[in-house]
Amino acid sequence: MKRNLLLTPGPTKIPEQLLEVLARPIIHHRTPQFQNEIKEVSEGLQYICQTQNEVYTVPASGTGAMEAAVCNLLSPGDKAICVEGGKFGERWAEICKAFNVAPVIVKVEWGKDVTVAQIKAELDKEPSIKAVFVTLVETSTGVTSDIKSIADVVKNTKAVLVVDAVSGLGVTDLQMDNWSVDVVCSASHKGLMLPPGVAFVAVSPKAYKYMETSANHRFYFDLRKAKKALDKVDTAFTPAISIMIAMNESIKMIKTEGLQNKFAQYARLAKGVQAAAEALGLKLFAQPSCRSNVLTAICVPDGMSAKKIAKEMRDVHGITIAAGQGHVEDKIVRIAHMGCLDEYDLLTGIACLEKVLAKQGHKFEFGTGLAAAQKVYNSDACAPSACGCKH
Ligand code: PMP
Repeated sequence: MKRNLLLTPGPTKIPEQLLEVLARPIIHHRTPQFQNEIKEVSEGLQYICQTQNEVYTVPASGTGAMEAAVCNLLSPGDKAICVEGGKFGERWAEICKAFNVAPVIVKVEWGKDVTVAQIKAELDKEPSIKAVFVTLVETSTGVTSDIKSIADVVKNTKAVLVVDAVSGLGVTDLQMDNWSVDVVCSASHKGLMLPPGVAFVAVSPKAYKYMETSANHRFYFDLRKAKKALDKVDTAFTPAISIMIAMNESIKMIKTEGLQNKFAQYARLAKGVQAAAEALGLKLFAQPSCRSNVLTAICVPDGMSAKKIAKEMRDVHGITIAAGQGHVEDKIVRIAHMGCLDEYDLLTGIACLEKVLAKQGHKFEFGTGLAAAQKVYNSDACAPSACGCKH
């Protein structure tokens, strides 16, 4: 079988233990057997979100969780801050507009992170703002936002802080309760190493009050229905049964290692990829102070096409990375280091990137990127991974 190594920022590689669980015969969801799974998923997601708040699951991709947050929290005519420093920040504003919520856009240059001062200025100017929508890791740029500092400002206002943690959850620290985050949105196919199909929304009491009073239209994503069902250890509609069951297994694997250890592993993997890119003479797209551990966005050499590089790596060598999005679609490639990827997966990706760059005329000595990454990966010990990868 041809290699199919996913180094993409979602979906991510699925560990064999989880593939085995996903392949089991399906069970019915209105059974005591599945109720045990619901209970476990609910508690497991609280662990991953670092919260005591309830976490509601809906069968959807990550955008479903974002839409659920908007239509449940806000009413037509409300105002909400949307931080736009990339494609997924833009999505917050698009969803708001679809529900007749007026977005107050905070523009951020791609590759940089929003400052607390920018958000504070808008909140001071417009006290009627009811929500602040931000992105934990902006997957289109490889930038991580300083959610803790943003939360410190938002928590003293009437606004709720809503975090798109679709790519960042379980990969980079997000302490919902300790930091006073009101809503966390995420999904199954990134840090949780599962196929797409389960989205989830964690909701603070402050945010739930808004959900009870929102006048927006909603049906399938009505989180009041999700809550009512969860109170009876049930789901409002047919859930993505197999993925929910595998999610319990995935969270067990993460728990065995510990969230903080996982964050440290991803930081180390990211450092290796960043070192490799720089050793190859390539610029990193995100500023050093806000570079994410979820993925590395790498500028391709002038005159080269990121899309062509990604295509050749995938079609010829069986290694999938992502090109850019929006106006940098053809200017950057994005290599993820989340999920059950280990240093050997990333060294394989770097070796392949070297090969394709050389073929397209970039001048460097073969092995330069690999050597830089190896130096990082051999510089400190790393706990063995519970997912079976030898980190
Ligand atoms: N937000 C972020 C930060 C993402 O990375 C993604 C997916 N790449 C989404 C939202 C949208 O998720 P989905 O494609 O699963 O709907």
